[in-house]
Amino acid sequence: MEELLKSLKAQAAELIQKATDLQALQDARVKFLGKKGEVTALLKGLGKLSAEERPRMGALVNTVRQELEAMIDDVQAKLEAEVLAAKLGAEEIDITLPGRATRQGHVHPLTAVNDEIERFFMKMGYTVAEGPEIESDYFNFECLNLPADHPARDMQDSFYITDSVLLRTHTSPIQARTLQSQEPNSPVRMIAPGKVYRWDYDATHSPVFHQVEGLVVDKGITFADLKGTLELFLRHMFGEETKVRFRTSFFPFTEPSAEVDISCCMCGGEGCRVCSHTGWLEILGCGMVHPNVLTMNGYDPNEVQGFAFGMGVERIAMLLYGIGDLRLFYDNDMRFLKQF
Ligand SMILES: [Zn+2]
Repeated sequence: MEELLKSLKAQAAELIQKATDLQALQDARVKFLGKKGEVTALLKGLGKLSAEERPRMGALVNTVRQELEAMIDDVQAKLEAEVLAAKLGAEEIDITLPGRATRQGHVHPLTAVNDEIERFFMKMGYTVAEGPEIESDYFNFECLNLPADHPARDMQDSFYITDSVLLRTHTSPIQARTLQSQEPNSPVRMIAPGKVYRWDYDATHSPVFHQVEGLVVDKGITFADLKGTLELFLRHMFGEETKVRFRTSFFPFTEPSAEVDISCCMCGGEGCRVCSHTGWLEILGCGMVHPNVLTMNGYDPNEVQGFAFGMGVERIAMLLYGIGDLRLFYDNDMRFLKQF
């Protein structure tokens, strides 16, 4: 029996040491030390021995069992360490590889110009108001002194959804909505930026474009306030040396009305292709709020006065960046957009 034990120990030791993975090790454990294992079988067979031999052999078998168990634990620890090392090796990050650069975007030139306009007027104490792009005929025309038969409605061929609902042709309805939401005759100082829609498409007209309109209403507002505000604004946008001139014009919602020109920012007023050799560029429309508009929106023109102005964001961006065709703004061509 002692011989058998010796030989089993040698076999087991070899199998354990040779195990290259945890499964092989587990198999070896079962083969020798499991319930039906060969060393276990020796322990079971001790009963057949004589009373003198039994304790000695018992101790011997137990020693071998403990030795084999210790050996298995050692090999298991070694194999587990190898598995972990292999895993860590496979997941290693090579910090010498060049990084993947993130392409950084920037705001669209129209957004940049719109933001700059908003910043200027917010510094002057204006609020920024928004309104729906799908608008009622009432807010888009009627309460702005443009009744159904008014010829000025033809100036803005519109996208109608029903007879009385359309895509707004200007952001002026926001002014009417603001006036109507206030206590009558309470002061207003606001700008209304946003998308507007008209039936036009060429190098300087798009069916969708961006406007910023402004409205100031208070006691004692005069044309001088309008002039001062717009001169400050245009010099802020186009440079301190910019000259500003007002020409009389007509808008249904203002009286008197004016077109505002700036000295050409391309040639400095010398005359060039952009300004059609006049030295001047038309930049926005404005005027004193028509008494009818104040009345129709719940204000009393004998108590308060106001001025209003409106500009196209595309027009200003084209002049600031020297862009010749407005359609470039909407093409999403990276070669174009990357330049700003
Ligand atoms: Zn010019």
